[in-house]
Amino acid sequence: MSESHDFKKLGFIGLGAMGNPMLSHLARKLPQDSRIWVYDVVEQSVDDVCAEFPGRVLKGKSAKDVAEQVDTILTMVPEGAHVRSVYLDPANGICSTDISNKLLIDCSTIDTATSLAVKDHIAEKFPSASFYDSPVSGGVIGAIKGTIAFFLGCGESDPNLDRLTYLTGLMGGQIIPCGGPSLGLAAKLSNNYLSGIIAIACSEAFDMGMRSGLDPRTLAKVYAAGTAQNTICDKFCPVPHVYPEAPSSGGWKQGFKVQLMRKDFGLAVDMAKRVGSQNVLGDVGLATYDGAANDARCRDLDSRVVYRYLGGEEDWQSKSNGT
Ligand code: NAD
Repeated sequence: MSESHDFKKLGFIGLGAMGNPMLSHLARKLPQDSRIWVYDVVEQSVDDVCAEFPGRVLKGKSAKDVAEQVDTILTMVPEGAHVRSVYLDPANGICSTDISNKLLIDCSTIDTATSLAVKDHIAEKFPSASFYDSPVSGGVIGAIKGTIAFFLGCGESDPNLDRLTYLTGLMGGQIIPCGGPSLGLAAKLSNNYLSGIIAIACSEAFDMGMRSGLDPRTLAKVYAAGTAQNTICDKFCPVPHVYPEAPSSGGWKQGFKVQLMRKDFGLAVDMAKRVGSQNVLGDVGLATYDGAANDARCRDLDSRVVYRYLGGEEDWQSKSNGT
């Protein structure tokens, strides 16, 4: 399959917690004669990946420089302002050189308005270029394992779908075309809103049950058997030591940082307002994640630390003799 898609000259911009392992998959799995030009504002991360894949991964001096070398570019930066800068900076952005016929894929989780503004700019200046939003889900562990999901901002009949599916498939598992421009982002934000709300509700439900005298393991069985069943209660249980592999059981050290949940939740609430969607849980959810993200006991930890933020009992095992 790989030979049918010509990704000989690829660019990758943004080599952070997600971008670095995504790039590694491409460097290991693309055909032998493919080369990847990379750029990050942190030069050390560029030097590190170039040293890890000598001859295969090559150093770019700027986003523009990368765009001048390649036919396809993936971007993975934190926020809308960074995406704007990477694409639209008049001196060093991707669009400051001729990008006619190039394929551009932004995997960052940003607001839909910025994504559409970048897409419109490209459509106006370089009509033969193609820009897609393609945010991901599955976290750093998923990026390392190559199991992240991609939510593509295109329809099932998009002429580039095969190429997008092949390329993203090298880095991930499920690839879902969401219907059209910016709809990958809309899907991702709506998913994270739901996931964030469930984590708060799950924390509160466990807490009220435990304070009433229930063992959290019994509660987990009840939720799993009942209508409350969901993956946050099951596999990402906010209460420590109910599910051994949940981030909470490891002190919330690994997982999806609460600041990122705060960012995505805020973007989702903005999106809901913009499209006129009634959103009764939005403001309270946002205030909760805002508080947790700024709480020294929670900052930098997995977002399900919201259980701690809301005052949930963490040391329940010693209080119930741990059996
Ligand atoms: P990160 O902060 O670890 O990495 C971002 C990288 O972008 C950094 O290396 C930074 O130096 C670089 N960067 C910033 N501005 C740049 C610019 N103008 N030009 C070039 N490079 C620039 O962030 P991350 O965790 O890798 O997340 C990236 C995106 O993926 C975010 O939008 C995030 O919401 C999303 N995401 C993250 C996770 C996760 O679990 N970390 C999961 C799913 C989606």
